[in-house]
Amino acid sequence: MIRSKSKVSKIIVIGDKGVGKSNIVTRFTQNEFSLESSSNPMINIYTDVKIKPFRFPEIRRSVIRGEEDDLKFHIWDTESQDALRSTDLYFKGCHGVLLVYDVTKQESFENLEKWVEIIREHLSDAKILLVGNKSDLHHLKTVCTEDGQAFADSKGITFYEASALDCTNIKDAFEELLQTVVDSNN
Ligand code: GDP
Repeated sequence: MIRSKSKVSKIIVIGDKGVGKSNIVTRFTQNEFSLESSSNPMINIYTDVKIKPFRFPEIRRSVIRGEEDDLKFHIWDTESQDALRSTDLYFKGCHGVLLVYDVTKQESFENLEKWVEIIREHLSDAKILLVGNKSDLHHLKTVCTEDGQAFADSKGITFYEASALDCTNIKDAFEELLQTVVDSNN
């Protein structure tokens, strides 16, 4: 449960393509999951139940509300890593970052160092939370929990293994990040 009396907070979701960013967001905001990879560069803004066009085609933006009516979060995710690297728009005004890798893809874990660098370059004091997604794929797991935890500890960030498919820890991870953002803004 997220409590505060405040304003809009911007959260971005980043990590390699295919790690499950879009599904993590749709699982959290709409309790939906898709087996298809999100290759359609349409813009989706989820404003509660409405989807509206947005100016930047490569960015998807979700709007959710907290416990009190005046607490709002904008959750952005993008499938275009090039767009992300070349624009400050994605990072502008951001309060929190959900950084995601895929526990079945070693490369997405190795790229975390690079992602943290990019985040730090743009945002000096945004809160970061690390998610190792696809924890349901036990038999395909190549990044062990201890390595995920050790990386998070080395950066001083919170870590969850999660699954957008079976819902494990998605709500907990998001709510912890949102609450940390709210607390640090108060
Ligand atoms: P994005 O490019 O990071 O936004 O990744 P997507 O959300 O489009 O997901 C990429 C693929 O991984 C899709 O085929 C999803 O169905 C799948 N996927 C996403 N999350 C999970 C998960 O938690 N478990 C499993 N098994 N598959 C997932």
